[in-house]
Amino acid sequence: MILRRRLTPRRLSVALSAQATLAQLVLTALLAAVLLLAMPTTAAADHQLAFKAGAAQRDITPPVGYQITHYERISIGVHDPLFARVLYLEDHQGNHVAIVGLDLIGAGFEACDQLRAEIKEKSGVENTLLAFSHNHSSVSLMPRPEKIVDTVTGWNHVTHDAIVEIVREAKAKAEPVTLRMGRAEAQVGFNRRLVHKPSGNVYMGVNKEGPVVPWVNVLVADSRKTGRPIAVLFEHAAHPVIVPHTSQLTSADYPGAAAARISEVLGDDVVAVFGQGGGGNINGYPLRSTHELADAAGRKLGDAALAAVEAAETIESHELTVKFAQSWLPSNPPPTREVWQQWVDTARTRDGQVDQRKVDHLNKLRALMEAGENPPPRRFDAYAVMIGREWCLVTMPHEMFCQYELWIDEKAPFRRTMTFAYTNGGQGYVAVDEAWKLKEKGGYEAGSLPNWGGNGSFSEFFGPPAVGSEKIIKDTIASLWPREE
Ligand SMILES: [Zn+2]
Repeated sequence: MILRRRLTPRRLSVALSAQATLAQLVLTALLAAVLLLAMPTTAAADHQLAFKAGAAQRDITPPVGYQITHYERISIGVHDPLFARVLYLEDHQGNHVAIVGLDLIGAGFEACDQLRAEIKEKSGVENTLLAFSHNHSSVSLMPRPEKIVDTVTGWNHVTHDAIVEIVREAKAKAEPVTLRMGRAEAQVGFNRRLVHKPSGNVYMGVNKEGPVVPWVNVLVADSRKTGRPIAVLFEHAAHPVIVPHTSQLTSADYPGAAAARISEVLGDDVVAVFGQGGGGNINGYPLRSTHELADAAGRKLGDAALAAVEAAETIESHELTVKFAQSWLPSNPPPTREVWQQWVDTARTRDGQVDQRKVDHLNKLRALMEAGENPPPRRFDAYAVMIGREWCLVTMPHEMFCQYELWIDEKAPFRRTMTFAYTNGGQGYVAVDEAWKLKEKGGYEAGSLPNWGGNGSFSEFFGPPAVGSEKIIKDTIASLWPREE
C-alpha cells in the first residue's frame, strides 16, 4: 500500500508527459534549430572576447671583455647566451601589458623608468614590466648612455633598443589565444639564512628548514589558430648563483637552461619568459659550483614547468586589469650622538687601523643628524596583472624575501597567483620585520649598522628598511586586489 502510494505521483507525471509528447517534440525541434543557429554566433562572440598575445625575443649577450657582476671578473667568452624575452597580452577591450624577462642581474629605478617611458612612447604599450632574473654571471642594465664611449655603453644602447623592439614586435604579432595557468612542484635552492647559535648572528649557508617557494608557476598562451603555445611565462624563486663566481664565461645560469629546455620540448618558436620570484633569501643549489650543475638545475626546472604546462587549466575570464600602487619604505632614523660616536670608534679595519671609508660614510650620517633629517625611504612600486578572479601576477621591485611570495599566494583572492620580485627597479634587499628586528645581527640582507656587511649599510639609506615596512608592503599589494565579498 505504502509502496503504491509512493509510486503514484511518478506514474501520474509519466502519464502527463505521454499526453504532452507531440507538443514537446515540436518545441524541442524548434529549440534545437534555434541553438544550432546560435552556435556559430556564440563561437564568434567567444573568439571576439578572446585574449590576444604575442611574444618575441632577442639575444642580448654583452661583448666579450666586459666586467661580469657579481662577483666582478672580466668575461672571456660565453657559456650560454643572454636573452630579452617578452609576452604581450591584450584583452578584447584593449587593456594590455608587456611582461619582459631579462637574463640580467638587475637595474635601478632610473634605467627602468626611462626604458618603460620609451617603450610607451614608441609602441603605445602603457605598462611594461621589466623582470630581471638576477643571474650573477651577467651585468646590470644601466640607463641609456648619452653617448657610446666603449663596448659596455654600446651594449647598453643596443640592449635598450632590443627591448623596445621586442615589445613592439610582440604587440604587432598579437593573435587570438587561449590562456592557461598551472603550477608544479619545483625547488632549485634552499633558504640561505642561518643563525649562529652562541652569538645570534645570521650568516649565509644552506638552511634546509628555512622557508622557500617550492613550486614553479606557469601561464601559457595557446594560439587559437594552431592550438600550439606561442609563449610560456614561468616563475621560480632562487638566486641564479649556481654558476661559479670564478667562471669568466657569461651565462644565464639555471633560468636560461630552464627556458632552453621549454623551447627544446615545445618548439624553438615558443618563447619562454622567466620571472624571478621572491628569491632574496634563497640561493640556487649547489652554490657557485659548475656550469654543468646550473644547466642540470635549469633542465629540471624546465621539466617541472613543462609538467605544469601539460596540466594547466584554461582561464575562462576575458577581462585583464593592470593596477599599480606605490609606497615608500622608511629607513631607520639616525642614532643618538653617543651611539654614533661608538660606531665611529669601532669603525676599524681587521688589523685595527681606522677605516676611513666607514668614517667618511658616518660623517654623511652626522650631516643628516645635524640637519634634523632621516635617511631617505626606499621606493616600492607594486603591480598586479589580474585576469578576472582567476589569475594574478604581482610584481615588486628589490630583492624581496620569499615570505612575501608565500603571503601573496595565501591571501590573494585569485585561484592562482604568480609573483615576481626584481621588477622595474631595485635598491637592494627587502627582508621581513622578523629579520630587521635582529638589528646588527640580521646578516647580509637585513643587518643594520654597525654591521658594515649589511646590504644597505654603505648606501644612502645607512641600513635596511625600518621595522614596520613589512606592513606597508602587504597593505600596498592588498590595495591592488578586488575586495573580498
Ligand atoms: Zn641578490
